[in-house]
Parts: sequence; C-alpha cells; structure tokens
Amino acid sequence: MVEFRAYRDMIDVTSMNRPDTTWKVVDAAGHEHRWYVDGKPADHYDPSASHELPTLVWVATGTGCYPDGGEYEVGHYECRECGDEIEHLRRTVDSFSQKIPGETHYEIDGEPVTHEEFEERLKVEMFES
Ligand SMILES: [Zn+2]
Repeated sequence: MVEFRAYRDMIDVTSMNRPDTTWKVVDAAGHEHRWYVDGKPADHYDPSASHELPTLVWVATGTGCYPDGGEYEVGHYECRECGDEIEHLRRTVDSFSQKIPGETHYEIDGEPVTHEEFEERLKVEMFES
C-alpha cells in the first residue's frame, strides 16, 4: 500500500510592526498620506499584500547601530510633492495571530516528490487498484 500525502505549510505572518491601514495624515500643503495596496488606498490590512507609501519618499539621514552590531538606516519620510516631513508613520501590532497558506508539499511513502509526480503516481495507483 503506497501512502500519498499532501500538506500545506501555514506561514505565520503575525507582525509586530505592520502597516496600520487606519493611519492617515494630511501635510502642510494639504496632501493626504496613507498606506496603499495595488495603487489603491488600503482599507484593511492584508498580510499577503504589499503595502506601499506611493505619496511619500524615504530620506535617509544616517545610520544607527543595534546592540548586536548590526546597522540600520535612520531617516524620515517626506511628501513626494511638497517635501513636507512626515514625522509619525503609524504602524501597529497584530492583535491576533495571522496565517497565510504557504507552499504545498507532496510525499509518496515519506519521500518528497513534485506535484506532477504526485498526480501522475496517484493516477496510476487509482487505475491499478
Ligand atoms: Zn505635500
């Protein structure tokens, strides 16, 4: 008896520093800034989507150091149009654990196989028995 197994990873995407889609700020020139997804204002947070700040530009002003020796960039965001500095880019912490489906794995008798091989062998197996 051949054992066929397919399972899917669940990726934990709970974030301690995720975009807060309720955040919105209006700069000195009246330009509105907020998170966007696919070029549209994001009305909810989707962990599988890429959140962007198309109205802002990141301006690096220096380098900071982590206690373990790693470096990070220090800077701030500015309005792309008028250059007004945006001080507080609000992010938030997920209030519950978020998971998204990841890669699917296929195994035959405990041996990892490709999806194609899995389907092929499964078909043969069903046909023969
Ligand atoms: Zn502006």
